[in-house]
Amino acid sequence: RAKECGRNHYQIYNHAIGAKVKEYVAIENGIRQALDLNQFQVYYQPQLNLVTGKIDCMEVLARWLHPELGWVPPSQFIPAAEEHGLIVRLGEWVLRNSCQQVHDWQQQGLPKVRIAVNFSAQQFQQANLCDRILQILAETELEPQYLEIEITESLVMQDKETTVTMLKRLQSLGMTISIDDFGTGYSSLSYLRILPASKVKIDASFIRDTPQSSEDSAITAAIIAMAHSLHLKAIAEGVEHQEQLDFLRSHHCDAIQGYFFSRPVPADQVVLLLQAQGQD
Ligand code: C2E
Ligand code: MG
Ligand code: MG
Ligand code: MG
Repeated sequence: RAKECGRNHYQIYNHAIGAKVKEYVAIENGIRQALDLNQFQVYYQPQLNLVTGKIDCMEVLARWLHPELGWVPPSQFIPAAEEHGLIVRLGEWVLRNSCQQVHDWQQQGLPKVRIAVNFSAQQFQQANLCDRILQILAETELEPQYLEIEITESLVMQDKETTVTMLKRLQSLGMTISIDDFGTGYSSLSYLRILPASKVKIDASFIRDTPQSSEDSAITAAIIAMAHSLHLKAIAEGVEHQEQLDFLRSHHCDAIQGYFFSRPVPADQVVLLLQAQGQD
């Protein structure tokens, strides 16, 4: 087959691999450098509690403004960091930075909110993950009840027993465990019984066409009902319209997150949101 393709094909193929290798190394170096030079940033997306009408939690989202490439989306640099074994460093940087920030806000007398931090599977492959988290909480003087750990179903499936043991420990220390992108993972519902979580985040893909799509609306309503019967809170991701909010409210969804309420914003804008909340 190689012979049939001839010399030119081989060269093109070889060239393409060379370009891929270069790109691969460039991204790896880029992430390392960004970590060293503090080029990553942390944005916060507030979650609106539909019962109290207040912000009670904010999701922490990593941002990267590359000096030449501009904004690099997390959908690119998170998988790259995972692939290059840099996600543990990046994850710890994000955790430390956001814990420090939320502690500062508390010191300033702003209304107290939790932060929800995304974790990757590789972070749970560290045997000492719980101790590292506790270390960062101690360093930043943040109480564990203000930290929420976001995990996905696929993260748990990687090494179920060890992960469940770790999550139980984190929960017993006062942290909230929430299941991100709920409903999209390759998993069975039965593991919900053994998973120490207190919150499910209904994936944005189910919310997008709710309430127009009767199928998506049915799934959304079913997830909320199931969460409640298991004594879990339900929050909807990717809420962009009033009609979605109305539907979620009528199905007693506990909270919403999405552009309709707020986009992810830098820390200085969070201060304004929290100040406004403190006044009413
Ligand atoms: P995620 O954890 O599911 O985060 C929610 C994503 O939805 C965020 O994308 C957010 O900006 C976006 N979003 C929120 N509201 C809306 C909306 O109303 N409409 C639309 N279209 N999108 C909305 P983002 O910031 O691009 O992050 C993408 C993913 O990257 C996250 O999905 C998370 O899996 C990952 N990620 C981001 N930061 C970190 C991090 O620090 N560590 C790890 N391990 N993963 C992270
Ligand atoms: Mg998340
Ligand atoms: Mg999500
Ligand atoms: Mg996610």
